[in-house]
Amino acid sequence: MTDIFDKYGEVAVRHDALLEEGADPFGVCLEEVYSPTEAQVNGRRTILAGTNNYLGLTFEPDCIEAAAQAIRKHGTGTTGSRIANGTYQNHRRLEMELARFMNCKHALCFPTGYQANLGMLVGLAGPKDVMLIDADSHSSIYDGARLSGATIVRFRHNDPADLERRLRRLEGEGQSKLVVVEGIYSMLGDRAPVAEFLEVTRRCGAYLLVDEAHSLGVLGETGRGAAEAEGVADEVDFYVGTFSKSLGSVGGFGASNHPRFEVLRYCSRPYMYTASSAPSNVASVITAIDKIRRDPSLRERLWRNAQEVYDRLSDQGYKICAPTSPIIAVQLPDIETAYYAWSRLLEAGVYVNLAVPPGTPHGESLLRCSVSAAHTEAQIDEICRCFEAIGQELERMAQAPALAMQ
Ligand code: PMP
Repeated sequence: MTDIFDKYGEVAVRHDALLEEGADPFGVCLEEVYSPTEAQVNGRRTILAGTNNYLGLTFEPDCIEAAAQAIRKHGTGTTGSRIANGTYQNHRRLEMELARFMNCKHALCFPTGYQANLGMLVGLAGPKDVMLIDADSHSSIYDGARLSGATIVRFRHNDPADLERRLRRLEGEGQSKLVVVEGIYSMLGDRAPVAEFLEVTRRCGAYLLVDEAHSLGVLGETGRGAAEAEGVADEVDFYVGTFSKSLGSVGGFGASNHPRFEVLRYCSRPYMYTASSAPSNVASVITAIDKIRRDPSLRERLWRNAQEVYDRLSDQGYKICAPTSPIIAVQLPDIETAYYAWSRLLEAGVYVNLAVPPGTPHGESLLRCSVSAAHTEAQIDEICRCFEAIGQELERMAQAPALAMQ
């Protein structure tokens, strides 16, 4: 009998090799979290610069109070799906707030952002349809596309002309065509040209879905995301968003003005057959949306911090994958250097994400930072100084390879 885990042999060997080198990106433990930007990690006080907590709302007193009250009033969980156990009043309220925030007629919430993509894509496209997805799409988009049974066509990343060529080939085939892009791409931090994509989809009779996971609360005059920043928010057909980034909680949503959108409540299996969001998550998100709506200074602080980190790391000679964005992906020459630099940063008290192949779009080895509005000037300075020290160390090692990574 073969061992059922044999298929993971190669991955496991690579992971064990990492452990031997003392780097364990999957073993990072936040033993205590002090604030949105600081925690005790592996026994050390550490600045968090890789948590997607863009507006720092995880410790917002009003959000915490709303969540605590919801637990006391409605309990710790819903213990079932909305089709079986019913909808809580606050699920409805959250959906109304989301619809209002996105200026859409309809919104549907899901227990995670991952499931929001599954639920939306499976609900919108079926085996007779075609889904055209950006080549750099998040795994939840790939998984949702596969689960839908639609024919999947990948187009070149952020390339509306390539999308148009592919859409033209489908002309006259009679199926629905759904184009999926992200507002800001999670790994490299680059933005989609949403207005151009919209033009192409309109010309070719396709629908456009924008996943604003990393751009909600971050881009646009009122924080609706990348489509709003490009002045086309009200024309996008479908939105996906998550609560796990700027909204500081867990969950996700889909939103649309399509008059038949609500059919997804009884036709989208990832919406129907899973427990609904916990009352505390729902309550904190309702409060967080209100914060974002009322306080644009959060977004301003975020961009100020992002600009400073971007400028200083570029001045230090680092190659950054995209123009200024709250996601700052620093490119290193190879996996080994990335592991080494990541571990040294962690030892120095700065946590960023290590992103290496096969998890990166073009096989890049990255240190992925996410900046927060809640980072203080001192923290931003410390992050940049640690990068500078590691950069100098890497340079010395490159000049004297015998010393490398001792
Ligand atoms: N979409 C995108 C673009 C993402 O980056 C992510 C998560 N990083 C998700 C969806 C899934 O969201 P969640 O982690 O809230 O499930």
